[in-house]
Amino acid sequence: MQDCLFCRIVRGEIPAAKVYEDDEVLAFNDIQPQRPVHVLVIPKKHITSLAHAGLEDAPVLGRMLAVANQIAVDQGSTDGFRSIINTGRVGGQEVMHVHMHIVGGQEPVGPMLKR
Ligand code: AMP
Ligand code: ZN
Repeated sequence: MQDCLFCRIVRGEIPAAKVYEDDEVLAFNDIQPQRPVHVLVIPKKHITSLAHAGLEDAPVLGRMLAVANQIAVDQGSTDGFRSIINTGRVGGQEVMHVHMHIVGGQEPVGPMLKR
C-alpha cells in the first residue's frame, strides 16, 4: 500500500518513535497520546482493518496481542493497560491500517465507554 501512513512508517519513510519491532510487528508511540503510555501496535503487512482480516491473518493478529504486555511494561504501564482496536466508521477508525492502541500508565484509564 503505497500511500498508507502506517505502511510508510514500516518502510521508514515517515519517522516514528519505535518501541518494539520484530519480523511481523511494529509498535511506536501515538503522536497524540491520550494517556502517559499510548502505543500503537501494527502488523508490518498491510491489513486495512479487522473488517478486512481473514483467518490467514490470525498469526500476526495473535502476535500483536502476545507482545502487548511486554510493550506496556517496558513503557511504564506496569500494572495493566487497555488495548483497543477501532474498526471502520462505527468503530471510529481514522487510519486504515489495523492498529491496536495500548493505553495505560500508573493510573486506571477509566470507564470503557463514555455514555
Ligand atoms: P484510530 O482512530 O484508532 O484510527 O487511531 C489512529 C491513531 O493514529 C490516533 O490515535 C492518532 O493520534 C495516531 N496517529 C496518526 N498519525 C500518526 C503518526 N504519524 N504517528 C503516530 N501516531 C499517529
Ligand atoms: Zn498500510
